[in-house]
Amino acid sequence: MTDGPYKRVLLKLSGEVFGGGQVGVDPNVVSSVAKQIRAVAERGVQVAIVVGGGNFFRGAELQQRGMERDRADYMGMLGTVMNCLALQDFCEKEGVQTRVQTAITMGQVAEPYIPRRAERHLEKGRVVIFGAGSGMPYFSTDTVAAQRALEIGAEVLLMGKQGVDGVYDSDPRHNPAAVKFDELTYDEFLARDLKVADATAISMARDYKLPMIFFGLDEEGSIEAVVAGEKIGTAVHA
Ligand code: UDP
Repeated sequence: MTDGPYKRVLLKLSGEVFGGGQVGVDPNVVSSVAKQIRAVAERGVQVAIVVGGGNFFRGAELQQRGMERDRADYMGMLGTVMNCLALQDFCEKEGVQTRVQTAITMGQVAEPYIPRRAERHLEKGRVVIFGAGSGMPYFSTDTVAAQRALEIGAEVLLMGKQGVDGVYDSDPRHNPAAVKFDELTYDEFLARDLKVADATAISMARDYKLPMIFFGLDEEGSIEAVVAGEKIGTAVHA
């Protein structure tokens, strides 16, 4: 049984996390994330994960360099699947049962996205890792994280970030005077046009009253802490 506030969570991991700030996958970082996921799963919390792909490709960046946006976005989505497989591998090395489900069908490496099957896996204590975004160009994995959280009935959307430990009024990586918010409403977030998540994800969370917590992954044990209900990062709610 879980002793924290949540029974089922959706964790969004940015692609940046997987690369440790570089292109590709850093096994040490993924291994450390997997250890934390094991600790959370051992508390009896059901964990679903949406994985980003910015450590490989972002459609918008490839478009700026001359590619057609939709094809570039498909490359972005395929990049997320590589992160999923890396995470699956390190989770299973930790003894955590996992299933990867992708929004673009690729039967040799993953199950297709079947929400009710995902819920069944979660009930059985398996960690479910969602890849390939929504399967649709012009979306982001942040928006997919909100959608999947709603569809599988997660109580909270936990936005794990690399290099930043919450939501600030400007980018703390560029502005040392940036001020961190402990809490924000969805409307404040949108009115300030904050770039730490895309507006579609925030407005979806607002419309369906899905609480979000932005937190940093650089500190050891932060996934366990946020799942246990410790007040870290920035809570975004109504
Ligand atoms: N992407 C997409 N549709 C989706 C999700 C993602 O086209 O539903 C593409 C998009 O090009 C995006 C890339 O996949 O830039 C990687 O995802 P994202 O940028 O959200 O990853 P993160 O910033 O979390 O690493």
